[in-house]
Amino acid sequence: MNALKLDLLIFGGGITGLWTLLRARQARYRVLLLESAALGGVQSIASQGIIHGGTKYALKGGISDSAQAIAAMPGIWRDALAGKGEVDLSAARVLSSHQHLWSSGGISSSLAGVFASKLMRSRVAPVARAQFPPPFDAPDFRGSLYQLQEPVLDTASLMRTLRKQALPVCYQYDPGKLQIDGGKPQIGQLRLEPRRVLLAAGEGNARLLERWGAKRPQMQTRSLHMVMLKGRLPAMYAHCLGASSNPRLTITSYPLEDGEMIWYLGGQLAEEGVTRTPAQQIATAKSELAKLLPWMNFSSMAYSTLEIQRAEVATAGGKRPNDCYLGEEKQLLVAWPTKLAFAPRLADLVLQQLRKDGLKPGEEGLPALSLPHPPPARLPWEQVATWN
Ligand SMILES: Cc1cc2nc3c(=O)[nH]c(=O)nc-3n(C[C@H](O)[C@H](O)[C@H](O)COP(=O)(O)OP(=O)(O)OC[C@H]3O[C@@H](n4cnc5c(N)ncnc54)[C@H](O)[C@@H]3O)c2cc1C
Repeated sequence: MNALKLDLLIFGGGITGLWTLLRARQARYRVLLLESAALGGVQSIASQGIIHGGTKYALKGGISDSAQAIAAMPGIWRDALAGKGEVDLSAARVLSSHQHLWSSGGISSSLAGVFASKLMRSRVAPVARAQFPPPFDAPDFRGSLYQLQEPVLDTASLMRTLRKQALPVCYQYDPGKLQIDGGKPQIGQLRLEPRRVLLAAGEGNARLLERWGAKRPQMQTRSLHMVMLKGRLPAMYAHCLGASSNPRLTITSYPLEDGEMIWYLGGQLAEEGVTRTPAQQIATAKSELAKLLPWMNFSSMAYSTLEIQRAEVATAGGKRPNDCYLGEEKQLLVAWPTKLAFAPRLADLVLQQLRKDGLKPGEEGLPALSLPHPPPARLPWEQVATWN
């Protein structure tokens, strides 16, 4: 049996695997990606597509080192989207160049205090009433509105753009057929000899670590119960701020071809909704929408929900890590980005490690393998069987 020698073998074709693959290929490393299902990931395609710059962290008061690390991310993404960055995302669709933060009338005075701080002034700008976009232009809206310069991407077009460039070296395989023999992965007759293996399989990393007999690093999952509603709705990319520093509701929108719009609801609603049944979660979402946007009529909307896990490195108390994570365990590099926005930083850390390992880029291409190329991942609302 012939062995295929590689510099880097990546497991998982979400944002982490694909971004790192493209960077490694540019650096002329011999790299291959194996995906168990579809290219575009599980969390990545289902994310809200917000390229955070840390304002959410800054809302909590201070700005830590990790908040500074994330502050650099929107710039890297903007360059990539403009076609002059480290990966070419010029074909990916930006749904909105900015987001809004709004307060319902009652808490606007306390928010004014938050936004008056120097830190927040550099990140958000108040919107004058005459410039309020729909649905905030309604006379009944009495709260205040702020604009935040962090873009929202169409995750389907983002992942399609990455997939198109990466596809020649991405293959779909059956994880049940994966054998690890002396640390070397083998799938049927295909024996791989990578210098480094990157586990970028999101929640799937736990199982892959087991296959390698590695006990560390430990993974945590934090669940979300997202809500989708569909109908004649305006495009809206906004966080409603409540009493806590976590947005009470985060709404992103996705235009459908038939002129209808999806509203995808996250924030506290999704975090606290994990103990609710889908029917209870839809009822809670309806009640929140009626309270927070009382002048809008949602009676003809169709609803569905998505239960999904965020996979991250384990932290004390199960809190969200402040940064992306790259761990090293023998030959393995284990990655969880924590946020879509952190993918470039994580890819950078992997490349630094390859250079530290003394891996020399070469010119030699890879032979085609007799495995299929993975199909593109589908958006959550494209997978809904029945709308309520
Ligand atoms: C609902 C939701 C909303 C979010 N919104 C945002 C947001 O707006 N902004 C933001 O910055 N972040 C957001 N996040 C976080 C962000 O989506 C994730 O941090 C990021 O997408 C993780 O990317 P990944 O590539 O590591 O994992 P994934 O996207 O989960 O990809 C992992 C891939 O590995 C594959 N895989 C699994 N097992 C195996 C195996 N054994 N072998 C090979 N492949 C395997 C899977 O099929 C999948 O394709 C959100 C997350 C969720 C769940």
